[in-house]
Amino acid sequence: MINEKKTILSVAIDGPAGSGKSTVAKRVAEELGFLFVDTGAMYRAVTLAAERQGVAMEDAGEMGRVASEIAITFGDFGKKVFIDGEDVSEKIRTPELTAKIKFAASSLNVRERLVAEQQRIADNNSVVMEGRDITTVVLPNAKWRFFLDASVECRARRRMGDFLSSSNAPDLGIIKRDIESRDKSDYERKISPLKRVEGQIYLDTSKMDVDAVVDYIIGVVNNG
Ligand code: C5P
Repeated sequence: MINEKKTILSVAIDGPAGSGKSTVAKRVAEELGFLFVDTGAMYRAVTLAAERQGVAMEDAGEMGRVASEIAITFGDFGKKVFIDGEDVSEKIRTPELTAKIKFAASSLNVRERLVAEQQRIADNNSVVMEGRDITTVVLPNAKWRFFLDASVECRARRRMGDFLSSSNAPDLGIIKRDIESRDKSDYERKISPLKRVEGQIYLDTSKMDVDAVVDYIIGVVNNG
């Protein structure tokens, strides 16, 4: 009997809010023909489901229950996110919801549940997976591990650019404060914080455009 096992490869990308990870990871995944996995969307989905159920979000156990009861799935090559089949891709991205994600992100039960699911996806598919703990906890043995960074000023300006077409864009100071507060909870939380470790390829993208970052990562992957 011939055992035809396909080669499964992983590109792991971590970095703080606004570092451009999602945009870059999506493009890299498209170019490599790998699955794009936005793990932040999973923490967002748990937060939305908890909010809808009226759960006290400080209750880590209850948050874990929510995470274990809902089915989070992806569509359109990872660009769309569903809770129990409902497309929530836009509902999970409001500023109000973003401000509450720290509860899901700091619940051990939620993290165990989501990490297991992320590992299952990566066991079955070649992935470009991005988040905060992908290079350290979820896929510490990934062949390629990147940490994408940029200054707070630069990340805030990029975020500002996302609002250009909107009439109620917040001011730069508010965006900066929001980024700083998310950095604080991501770098300082006890469980699976965002961190730089040996073996990651560190990229400060402050002076790089998206094309340059994508080309760099593809170059590293193609070099084996
Ligand atoms: O990447 P995104 O901004 O959508 O992530 C939302 C939040 O989810 C992050 O600020 C972080 O607190 C949490 N998160 C996490 N671990 C991941 C991905 C995201 O704790 N792997």
